[in-house]
Amino acid sequence: MPIQPPVESPRDLGEAYALLAATHHRPIAGGTDVMVQITGEIGQLPDRLLDVWHLEGLRGITVSEGALTIGALTTYTAMRHSAPCREHAPALVEAAATIGAAQIQNRGTIGGNIANASPAGDTLPVLLAMDAEIVAGSLRGERIVAAADFWTGYRRTALAPDELVLRVRLPIAPDREVRFRKIGTRRAQAISKVVMALSWHLRDGRPEWRDVRVALGSVAERPIRVVATEALLEGAAPTAETAARAAEAVAGEIKPIDDVRSTADYRRAVTARVLQRMIREAGGW
Ligand SMILES: Cc1cc2nc3c(=O)[nH]c(=O)nc-3n(C[C@H](O)[C@H](O)[C@H](O)COP(=O)(O)OP(=O)(O)OC[C@H]3O[C@@H](n4cnc5c(N)ncnc54)[C@H](O)[C@@H]3O)c2cc1C
Repeated sequence: MPIQPPVESPRDLGEAYALLAATHHRPIAGGTDVMVQITGEIGQLPDRLLDVWHLEGLRGITVSEGALTIGALTTYTAMRHSAPCREHAPALVEAAATIGAAQIQNRGTIGGNIANASPAGDTLPVLLAMDAEIVAGSLRGERIVAAADFWTGYRRTALAPDELVLRVRLPIAPDREVRFRKIGTRRAQAISKVVMALSWHLRDGRPEWRDVRVALGSVAERPIRVVATEALLEGAAPTAETAARAAEAVAGEIKPIDDVRSTADYRRAVTARVLQRMIREAGGW
């Protein structure tokens, strides 16, 4: 019989922060990860839940000061329907569209994906490739954590136990191209075997390989950037030779594992092939 932890449902952020500071509660947003963990008795089960669903301070999608800001409670469906998200973060919208099916997209939130810290979280490589900033809050105030510093290990984050993810801030960069690709068993309703986001600079609408980001999920204990492969691509042209060298480099740089969804060898081969293909598409050859 699964446990049924007590649930507190604060009406504002101050109340939520006070509850988190006083006693350890596990936040629950859409519940699409937490409820699977509770009913399946997976991992460390929560003693108490903090239902954040009614906290208006965690909602909203805004554009200001050169950034697209997405509240932690924003669902995948909301992102897919949001004109600012589609305009400024099309790769994130593409990732949202691959997550679960409509039921999960209606309930699952970006804050939940970020805090759950699964190495297979599909939005996370996009956040890395876009240099996102995650805003966390507690009774001590708010602080900003770069996506690159947020996932610290297997299902571990830089969040303190009394902190909530409030929102994610994505710099608006019209001179930047971001592409997303997910490989799963099926085209829908599949957890990633490999997920990749690739971004590069544009000059006058044409690829200029500066500030290249290659971010990956499902190939390490946490979402990662492959910095040696990025360095190889920096300043290069998206030619067939570059694509082949990058594919070889990324295959050597990652250390995926065998698990129930895939083998390490398959993940390595597919990561190399996906990167090669994305560079080819970027080069238009
Ligand atoms: C059938 C199914 C299919 C799925 N498919 C995919 C998929 O294709 N790709 C994918 O990436 N994921 C998938 N998921 C996982 C899940 O839907 C996502 O990770 C989702 O974004 C979680 O959001 P949530 O609001 O439901 O999180 P919850 O389950 O409510 O919470 C998840 C974790 O985040 C913490 N948390 C939530 N909100 C906050 C906050 N604001 N501050 C601090 N901590 C917080 C919780 O304490 C918990 O540890 C799937 C799940 C199911 C059940």
